[in-house]
Amino acid sequence: MVGAGLVGCLTACYLARRGHRVVLYERRPDPRSAAPERGRSINLAISERGIDALRRIGLDRTVLETALPMSGRMMHAPDGTLGFQSYSAGGERAINSISRSDLNRTLLEASLAMPGVQALFEHRLTGLDADSGRMEFDTPGGPVTRTATVVLAADGAYSAVRERLRLPGGVEVTQDHLDYGYKELTIPARDGEFALDPGALHIWPRGKAMMIALPNPDRSFTCTLFWPRSGPGSFEELDTAERFEEFFAAVYPDARTLMPDLADDYAHNPIGRLVTVRARPWHVRGAGAVTGLLGDAAHAIVPFYGQGANCGFEDCVELDRCLEETGDDFPAALALYGSRRKEHADTIAELALENFVEMRDKVASRSFLLRKRLEHG
Ligand code: FAD
Repeated sequence: MVGAGLVGCLTACYLARRGHRVVLYERRPDPRSAAPERGRSINLAISERGIDALRRIGLDRTVLETALPMSGRMMHAPDGTLGFQSYSAGGERAINSISRSDLNRTLLEASLAMPGVQALFEHRLTGLDADSGRMEFDTPGGPVTRTATVVLAADGAYSAVRERLRLPGGVEVTQDHLDYGYKELTIPARDGEFALDPGALHIWPRGKAMMIALPNPDRSFTCTLFWPRSGPGSFEELDTAERFEEFFAAVYPDARTLMPDLADDYAHNPIGRLVTVRARPWHVRGAGAVTGLLGDAAHAIVPFYGQGANCGFEDCVELDRCLEETGDDFPAALALYGSRRKEHADTIAELALENFVEMRDKVASRSFLLRKRLEHG
């Protein structure tokens, strides 16, 4: 398994339960002893699709222990007016704000607690011969070569494995970058309490741009600004601390008053890219090995539906089902898994792109209309 992120670790759990021996190769240091990377979506919304995959392997309770349920979205108008929209009619259903690093650690520990699972950190895949399953890794001790008859890639949106499958007759890949970037900011706890309602996903819709905020167990909120890369109100235009702060205070005034560390976050947090990856097929069969793609490596999507990790978790369930149906014949199971999952991945990719327009623009007008309707009885 190349990549010990969310999907790699959960897949390792499923494979180990079937009695397979799994080696996780991860380019980063061991997350149990290293600090999480700055500015890389600190928290995630995990919904029923993801929880179902965790439940099937007995991890839902552990993961949900520290989760914060969000039962609706809270709209922040430019004048500071708030409008709440419940995710379900009775308000009983919720999506869950979960720390990415805690979730990754929980899944890694769960996989390593299973028989036959081993993790090798600071192993960055640099080469793959899909015909033989020969992999090359850069490690602090120098290059290392390993061979496996089944190579599974959960190495993310910019998958190194997928790159090496893009040969004639191999995997066809398209990568569509949105002309938007994202930057993470923080609303810290105020007097030890949440500064905003922790039971909601907060949205500041601003037409062509928006900001969202999800609560964290330490009573802070992680905000994500989704701004155009170029043009008016873009990261490119607002490229100094003064310009950025002046614009931010004018457009997100209620949030600005809650962000004492805005200048520091602006200066130190990177601007992330937003990409949709479509690949076909999701597996390649060689003479001596089979290679398959899972999670973002197979189908990275933009984050506006909060479904990327959830969708990757569903991959683990489907692969497990296909292995069951094929008697653990990996080439057959990977072919079946790809044929079943591909259309779902394509659909959520489209929905995620559409939901960006919905979130940054339409929810605002809808909440405005609703308020007006209530005001007028
Ligand atoms: P990753 O999490 O990217 O893990 C890949 C792993 O592979 C990493 O550990 C990496 O270090 C390792 N790796 C990479 N290259 C190599 C290499 N060459 N050799 C060895 N190891 C390698 N999804 C949701 O469900 N809900 C949300 O609310 C949500 N919010 C998001 C917000 C933002 C801003 C973004 C960008 C994404 C969001 N997502 C969300 C999507 C979610 O983060 C991804 O879908 C999910 O992380 C995919 O998991 P993965 O394991 O496939 O890939």
